[in-house]
Amino acid sequence: MSSYEVVIIGAGPAGLFAALKLADSGAGRVLLVEQGPALEERRRDQPGGLLCGWGGAGAFSDGKLILSPEVGGFLSELLPLEDLIALIQEVDDIYQQLGAPAELYGGEPDTLELLKTKARHGGMIFIPTHLRHIGTENCQKILKRLRERLADRLEIRTNCRAHHILAQDGAVSGVALDNGEQVEARYVIAAPGRAGAAWMREEARLLDIPSIPSPVDIGVRVEVPASVLSPLTEAAYEAKLIYYSRTFDDKVRTFCMNPYGEVVLEDLDGLVTVNGHSYASRKTENSNFAILVSSTFTEPFDDPISYGQYIARLANLLGKGALVQRLGDLQVGRRTTSARLERCLTRPTLKSATPGDLSFVLPYRYLKDILEMLEAIDTLVPGINSLHTLLYGVEVKFYSHRLKLSPDLETPIRNLFIIGDGAGITRGLIQASASGLIAARAVIRGR
Ligand SMILES: Cc1cc2nc3c(=O)[nH]c(=O)nc-3n(C[C@H](O)[C@H](O)[C@H](O)COP(=O)(O)OP(=O)(O)OC[C@H]3O[C@@H](n4cnc5c(N)ncnc54)[C@H](O)[C@@H]3O)c2cc1C
Repeated sequence: MSSYEVVIIGAGPAGLFAALKLADSGAGRVLLVEQGPALEERRRDQPGGLLCGWGGAGAFSDGKLILSPEVGGFLSELLPLEDLIALIQEVDDIYQQLGAPAELYGGEPDTLELLKTKARHGGMIFIPTHLRHIGTENCQKILKRLRERLADRLEIRTNCRAHHILAQDGAVSGVALDNGEQVEARYVIAAPGRAGAAWMREEARLLDIPSIPSPVDIGVRVEVPASVLSPLTEAAYEAKLIYYSRTFDDKVRTFCMNPYGEVVLEDLDGLVTVNGHSYASRKTENSNFAILVSSTFTEPFDDPISYGQYIARLANLLGKGALVQRLGDLQVGRRTTSARLERCLTRPTLKSATPGDLSFVLPYRYLKDILEMLEAIDTLVPGINSLHTLLYGVEVKFYSHRLKLSPDLETPIRNLFIIGDGAGITRGLIQASASGLIAARAVIRGR
C-alpha cells in the first residue's frame, strides 16, 4: 500500500492552494487526486465538465477575485477578521504572481457612500466589494502556471476519484480510491467542491462529522442592456444588494454581476441551470446578475439540495433546458412566446433558452420575492423593472451541508480537514483558496 504524509482530494482552488502551501513548505510525500480530467482535456460542454477537473469550478469561472471578507463564504465566522484579511491578502498576492491583473475595481469612496444611501432609501443594503477580474479566458493560463509550479513537487493523479475517507481510532488513516487502491495518509485534506458535495455529505455521515443545515439559493438570472445597469456597474463594478422582501420578509440578494457579459448554461449531472460570466476582452451589449432567495429547511425536511434540484428539474421539464421570460410578461401573467421574445428590446445572449413562463416553475414565494426586489432595485437603477428585462430560470446555488469544523478547518476526526465549497464554508475563489492555506498551515504546524 502506498503511503503519503498528506492526501488532498480535489484540484479546485481550495485543494490547489493547500497543495501549493504544502509544496512551498517542503511537506513530505503529498498526493493530489482529482476525479476529473487534466486541464487541457477539460470540455465545459460535457456532463460535469464545468465543475470537474484541474482547477475545479474555478477553471471556467469568471475569475472575479472578490477581496472583501464579508463576501464569498463564512470564514469570518471562524477566524478573527484581521487574520482573514491577512489571508485574503496572501491569496491575492499568489494570484497576482500567477498572472492576475494588477487593476483593482471597487469604486470611489464618495460614490460608494452615495450608492449606500440611495440603496437604503430603496429598502436595500448595499455592500461594496473590491475585486480583481481575471476573466474566463485567463483563468486557464493561471491554472496552467499553477500546475507548472506544482509539477514534480507532489504526485498528481487526474481522472482518479476518492471513494472513501478511511479513519481508525478517531484519526484519519487514508483514502480508498475508486480503482480499488487504498492509500495510507497521516493527513487528509478533502476539497471536493460543489461537484463532490453529495459525496462529502455521505462521507461526513459515515464518519459522524456533525453539520449545520445550509440554505439553498433559488432564483433567476436577470439580463438588461448594459447601459441600464451601468450607473451601478461603472460606479461599483460588482454591487451586492440585500433586500428583505415586503410580503415574506425573506432575505433576497443580488449575486455575480457581469457587466457586458453573457448568460450561460450550467450542467450538473444532466440538470440544466443558468449562470452568467463575462470575458476580460470580449464584450456583449448586455449585463446580467442573479437574484437569489435563500431558504433553509429544518425538520422533518432538511434536504435543501433535493429541493433545489426538484425546482431546476421542473424548469428543465417545461423548457427542455432553461427558460427565458420577459419581466413584463411575468408581471401580467402570460407566457413569453418566440414572437414576444422577438419584440424584446433586450436581445438574449443565451440563445438556447426556451421562451416560457417562470410562474409554472417557481413557487409563489420566490416569484413574489424576486418581483419585489426588482421594484426596489428600480429605485436605484431606473429601467430594471421594465417589460424588456429578461429573466432566465432557474439559477440555483447548492451548498453542501455546512460541516462543523475547528478554526483550522479540522473535523472531529483527527488530521482530517475539509475545506472549500464542499465543506459548505466558502462560496467563491478567494475564500476557497484561503481555506486551502488554513488547512495546509495547520498540517505544517502539526508535523
Ligand atoms: C460558472 C462559474 C463561475 C464562477 N465565477 C466565480 C467568480 O467569478 N468568482 C468567484 O469568487 N467564484 C466564482 N465561482 C465559484 C468558484 O469557482 C468556487 O467557489 C470555487 O471553485 C470553489 O473551490 P473548491 O476548490 O472548494 O471547489 P471546486 O472548484 O468545485 O473543486 C472541487 C474539485 O474536487 C473534485 N472532486 C470532487 N469530489 C471528488 C472525489 N471524490 N475525488 C476526487 N476529486 C473530487 C471535483 O471534480 C472538482 O474538480 C464560479 C463558479 C462557477 C461554476
